[in-house]
Formats: sequence, structure tokens, C-alpha cells
Amino acid sequence: MDAAARNQYLRAIGVDVWVARTAAAVAPAAAGTPETVAVEVTLPLPSAAAPRSAIADGSGWDALKAEVKNCTKCALHATRTQTVFGVGNRQADWMVIGEAPGAEEDRRGEPFVGAAGQLLNAMLKAIGLTRESVYIANILKSRPPGNRDPQPEEVAACFPYLTRQITLIRPKLILAVGRIAAQNLLRTDMPVGRLRGQVHRFGEFNTPLIVTYHPSYLLRSPGEKRKAWEDLKFARDFFQKLPMQAS
Ligand code: URA
Repeated sequence: MDAAARNQYLRAIGVDVWVARTAAAVAPAAAGTPETVAVEVTLPLPSAAAPRSAIADGSGWDALKAEVKNCTKCALHATRTQTVFGVGNRQADWMVIGEAPGAEEDRRGEPFVGAAGQLLNAMLKAIGLTRESVYIANILKSRPPGNRDPQPEEVAACFPYLTRQITLIRPKLILAVGRIAAQNLLRTDMPVGRLRGQVHRFGEFNTPLIVTYHPSYLLRSPGEKRKAWEDLKFARDFFQKLPMQAS
């Protein structure tokens, strides 16, 4: 993606852009005014669609999808319109994990398709990713009524579905968006403000996991978008430094 396009996406997520005249003149983000953000000129990303191991064949996915579709393990099955399984590239390097379906997701059966989803798409584009190149899923596959927080027993019932998705995809990086995703994946009660800015590890593959704010929170608190942009750059820079391995 060229710099002009990326700046357009940054503006779309509500981050003012400061553009250096030359690549050599790029200033560190901290040197900008509080309202401005330095933008690097080049953004090479490793291929987003490296082949994965044989575990990623259709059979594991088909069984898992059917189980989720028919799941009655928690009370949310009685109030949902349908389950919201997950969407995207099953061989993705990046996996984005959110909280739970909202009203629009419940209606359409796809995660992050409402207002928060529009912002998530713009956030991904700002670091050179597309919605289609990553895999997007939630902690819960069914909508909590009124968008209330997931209950512990709902998370406990649903979490194994998410870990099976992670095992099938084997992403190189998990981006946990929001408190509910971060706290449940990392089994902590620390706030997002203390979890962001570092690389955590998740699960049996020690998958790197980076935390940022939930797009819904950013819509309510646009002043925090600059921090989210710092998190996205941190994640992108970490990913770019990963050794490229055939998978
Ligand atoms: N918020 C989430 O966390 N997930 C969605 O799918 C939609 C909104």
C-alpha cells in the first residue's frame, strides 16, 4: 500500500497524519505533537497466505463449524438468531479476536460487520492488511442479549471452539481487541491499558499475542485512537521481524 492510501486509512480511523518529506526524515512518533502521528514510508509485509500444515484441511473445519452451529452448551442458544463462527483466511498469519457478536453480527452470522467492524477494517488497512487476509473470531459465538458482558460460564463453554480455531489456523500473531478478549485469552484481570505494548504468548504453540483497544471502545472514546494506532504499529513491526518460515 502506498503512503497516500495508508494516510487515507489513518484518517478514516480518526488518526491525524504527519507525513515526512523523505524516508530518511521520518521522525519517531513521540516527536509529533499530541495530535499527530509519524508515518513510515515503506511497509513491506511478509506474505499473508503461506500454506499451513495438513491440519488445516476441510475436515477439521467442517466438524467444528457444525458443532458450533448446533451448540446448546450455554443459555445463549435460546436467544441468538444464529451462531457467529468466524470469517477470513484459514491460513492467515494474523488472527483478530474480539468479544462476542452484537445485533448486526447475530443477524448476519458474521463477526465485526456493524459499526465496530467498519472501524476494525480501517484499522487493519492502516497497517497494510485486509479483512480477507486475516481470520476474525470472537470469544463467544452467540450474542449476549443487549450486548452485556459475557458470563464466565458462557466463556467456559465457548472457549474450546476458539482454541480449536486457533489450532487449525496456527496464526503467527493474535491481535486481541478489547478487554474481554485480552483478559480471557491471557487469564488475567488486568486492564487493556496495562496489557498493551508488550508481546504476550497464548496456548500450546506459544503464539505471540498483542492487545489493543476494542473498536467499539474507540468509537466511544476517539481520543484513544492514537494509542490504538501505536499498538497496530507495534504489532506490525513485531510481525515484520518474525523469521519467515515455511509452514
Ligand atoms: N464486537 C465484537 O467483539 N465482535 C463482533 O463480532 C462485533 C462487535
